[in-house]
Amino acid sequence: MTILCFHTVEPDWDSSLALRPDDFDEMCAWLARSRDVVPLEQAMGSLDRKFRPKGRTTAITFDDGWAGVAEHAWPILQNHGLPMTLFVIADSLQTDSIDLGWVENPPAAPLRVMGLDEIRALQAEGVHIGSHSMRHADLRTLDEEACVADLVESKAMLEDLLETSITTLAYPKGDHNEMVRRAAKRAGYEWAYTLPEEREPVGPMAVPRVGVYPGNSTKTLWLKTRRNYLDARLHPRWPGN
Ligand SMILES: [Zn+2]
Repeated sequence: MTILCFHTVEPDWDSSLALRPDDFDEMCAWLARSRDVVPLEQAMGSLDRKFRPKGRTTAITFDDGWAGVAEHAWPILQNHGLPMTLFVIADSLQTDSIDLGWVENPPAAPLRVMGLDEIRALQAEGVHIGSHSMRHADLRTLDEEACVADLVESKAMLEDLLETSITTLAYPKGDHNEMVRRAAKRAGYEWAYTLPEEREPVGPMAVPRVGVYPGNSTKTLWLKTRRNYLDARLHPRWPGN
């Protein structure tokens, strides 16, 4: 049905990236009750021709690796028995000073992504890890060889540090084009995930996800996990398209 994309859960960060713990808890309770939430790799086993999971199947993904995921999101997910996949910015595992300049409206307190130990701890508890590129650059701005290099390097680094095979990629901000999709395939990914805001090609290198944002209620989630949501959302007559 739907692959959902979240970023983080934080009580005190006003941002399109951050849900409040209470709201997230309510969403998770609803998802556990009303949808078949499965690990992402399992959802990929039953896609329809538009590359969406079939039936009530839903998967939960988080992008970027914010500290709030370990601190707030994962305990809530575990409480409801829900699995997640985390897409990690590879370079953040080997440096403390990753450039987070692309974040809009950062909080007053320092914004922090998880380090290697925290990612490993989540991994040990069953969280599946994918790549979110080396440094969260807009991959469309790179030339193809640089794009392939970024995606190969992030995959290899994560595989080395986390001792697992990395077969999935979430494009930073979901942004991609034909060159980026080709580069992802050349880099050896099985699946790459997007966040479409208009009609765009779908395929193994462009699997659509639906973003969940602050202000979304369980009613919104009901809508967003309906079979026809993306068709409506991506229709040229959708408000704002
Ligand atoms: Zn991101």
